[in-house]
Amino acid sequence: MAAPDPYRELRDRLIDAELLFPTGVEGLYGRSQTYQEIVAAIDRMVHRWGTELKATAVYLPPVLARSTFNSTNYLQSFPDLMGSVHVFRGNDRDHAELVRRVETDGDWPALLEPGEVVLSSAACHALYPMCSGRLPLGGRRYEVSGFCFRHEPSPDPARMQAFNMHEVVYVGDHDVAQRHRDEGLVHGLGLLGDLGLDVTPVPANDPFFGRLGSALAAGQIEEELKLEGVTPICSEDKPTAIISGNCHRDHFGLPFGIETDAGEVAHSACVAFGVDRITVALLVRHGLDPAEWPGPVRAGLFR
Ligand code: 5GP
Ligand code: ZN
Repeated sequence: MAAPDPYRELRDRLIDAELLFPTGVEGLYGRSQTYQEIVAAIDRMVHRWGTELKATAVYLPPVLARSTFNSTNYLQSFPDLMGSVHVFRGNDRDHAELVRRVETDGDWPALLEPGEVVLSSAACHALYPMCSGRLPLGGRRYEVSGFCFRHEPSPDPARMQAFNMHEVVYVGDHDVAQRHRDEGLVHGLGLLGDLGLDVTPVPANDPFFGRLGSALAAGQIEEELKLEGVTPICSEDKPTAIISGNCHRDHFGLPFGIETDAGEVAHSACVAFGVDRITVALLVRHGLDPAEWPGPVRAGLFR
């Protein structure tokens, strides 16, 4: 008999409890009312923090301008994770051919063309073109939230292809950006700890593609540009990242022409809450019925 797979087991438990609904594609789920109320409560929690920081809140669609995507360098680093939106721009004859191919199992996507948008890979990417130009003295803070897509089909219910991300972002001076990441991650870990989650900060790297990618990943670790807060969801040995803190340096300031009030290239940093992963982590930690969660957790979260 095959060894039990804790990822599939948890996925099946969440589906049996009708917290998540399967779609036939790995990592893509419908969400129940109960699940969605947890998501909304986590979003409110991050929003309360954003409000304390006087961050401007921006709620984003799940798609990103292709022109923005082209300037983020994402394709150079993570070609295997991205998703592109293609659209039909043909005439009547092309339409007839399109329908013929659909009905005969033919290659109908070959008749589509790239649209103006791609799927968003990280909530903060849409923000940077909005910041082009000179920033006010002291820079600016934003809170950005929306659905993200990454092509990582997996039975692990904490690895979704479409998931919610809620970030608190700083754009401005380099030392403030570094502090935003460092102090912001500590604050975020505190918020998650208050929800009864056991979260440990660890140095991390993004999954850069290919041979060149290993060098980029090593550099990212060495320079501590990315830290994650990890918590056991399906496995004690392989805990899951539910929050990350990222120093981008001038990675976005440069291509998007963002300047500090002193005219220097702006740095940016973000603290990203993986809202779906936090939701799943809470369900695992406290049980599948939020009505039964410990009083202090309920009181802290559902307000
Ligand atoms: P990052 O940009 O650091 O990779 O992602 C930010 C946060 O989004 C992560 O810390 C994690 O909590 C969440 N996240 C990243 N990938 C996935 C995924 O595949 N599924 C889900 N549900 N959340 C993810
Ligand atoms: Zn970000």
